[in-house]
Amino acid sequence: MAAAYELRCRECGKRFDNAPLSICDECFSPLEVICDLEAARGTFTREAIAAGPSSMWRYKSLLPVPEDYKPVTPAGWTPLLPAPHLAERIGAKNLYIKNDAVCMPTLSFKDRVVAVALANAQTFGFDTVGCSSTGNLANAVAAGAARHGLKTYILVPSDLEPAKILNTQVYGATLVRIDGNYDHVNRLCSQIADRYSWGFVNVNLRPYYAEGSKSVGFEIAEQLGWRLPDNVVCPMAGGSLITKIRKAFKELIALGLVEEKEVRFFGAQATGCSPISTAVKNGADHIEPQRPSTIARSLAIGNPADGVYAARAIRQSGGWAEDVSDVEIVSAIQELAETEGIFTETAGGVTTAVTARLYAHGRIHPDDLTVTCITGNGLKTTDALAGVYDQEAAIRPRLTDFEAYISQKNDEPELVVEGANVR
Ligand SMILES: *Cc1c(COP(=O)(O)O)cnc(C)c1O
Ligand SMILES: [Zn+2]
Repeated sequence: MAAAYELRCRECGKRFDNAPLSICDECFSPLEVICDLEAARGTFTREAIAAGPSSMWRYKSLLPVPEDYKPVTPAGWTPLLPAPHLAERIGAKNLYIKNDAVCMPTLSFKDRVVAVALANAQTFGFDTVGCSSTGNLANAVAAGAARHGLKTYILVPSDLEPAKILNTQVYGATLVRIDGNYDHVNRLCSQIADRYSWGFVNVNLRPYYAEGSKSVGFEIAEQLGWRLPDNVVCPMAGGSLITKIRKAFKELIALGLVEEKEVRFFGAQATGCSPISTAVKNGADHIEPQRPSTIARSLAIGNPADGVYAARAIRQSGGWAEDVSDVEIVSAIQELAETEGIFTETAGGVTTAVTARLYAHGRIHPDDLTVTCITGNGLKTTDALAGVYDQEAAIRPRLTDFEAYISQKNDEPELVVEGANVR
């Protein structure tokens, strides 16, 4: 039986059999997985999906894994939550949060892409896998490889957050810290993958890895009752996630699972690493690489592999991109936690701050149905909030002490911090 998916060059269209390949040998453009939609027509139905597992594997027939693949990691199927309090703060009326801060097993959306990449590592017979990572991918690969029983080498920039380093080492992965930024690390990984024939999830397995992000789009549509939103706001690092949510929506339209509609895509970056949002704002066709300098380390890719495609998708959809400062990121992390009870990492601070700005600037209409993608968990980047909250002296366990504490608290003048939100 022919595989229901194959690799195709994004530029010249050359077709390739399934293999650990990411670049076209004719034109050196990136390869992409194309799933056979006609073959999926019988299995990818609302009823079959509803009867599937409570994980991203309910969409298995449109993910690039063998038909008889038995899922190892139940990633995905995260909550889509109405966000009325945040909406009120920022002038929105119909705002939802796709909350991958609680994605299993390592608390970021990277668990989705890794689940698909490791399924393929298994198919291709690799016994050793690895990745270059800004942090969350390292955690997801380390955990996933432990479940799959694979050896793991993970390369990261040396300035990674301590929690992301610990969350990699605990799974028994070999963590190699590189004295350089993500772009240096990534280049080295390409060379290692060639030399040692290992499966690097975001290098030679990248086309398969990237398809895992479609599950975010499938879930949003299903959780809205098989409807598409008007807008999606999505953080961008390499620029893959935003393009794959859009691809998922297009596949759902092609299969008749949702009504046809052009969803506007809005990209979010940190100003300290904003090659894609800059290209969108300038109307440029190419990406000018940057040297990253931001607390949003999970998004700090200065030369994004899918940047051109992300910028193109945003423009074609009628959307926009914005970038925000580190001060705005911290304040947005607090705002999301205080209004909706969701503690996100710096990337979610970026997305929340950008969402607020898009409403403030009238780029998004208040009545629109908008989904904001929160992609990672705040417990991994607690250093971003270092010094923000005082550790007060303990009081004695007496009611009088408590009353004195409360009255003193109420006497305190309002603290005004320059650049922070006034509450
Ligand atoms: C990797 C990552 C992203 C961006 O993903 P790309 O597909 O590379 O654009 C967004 N948020 C978090 C938390 C991430 O770890
Ligand atoms: Zn080509």
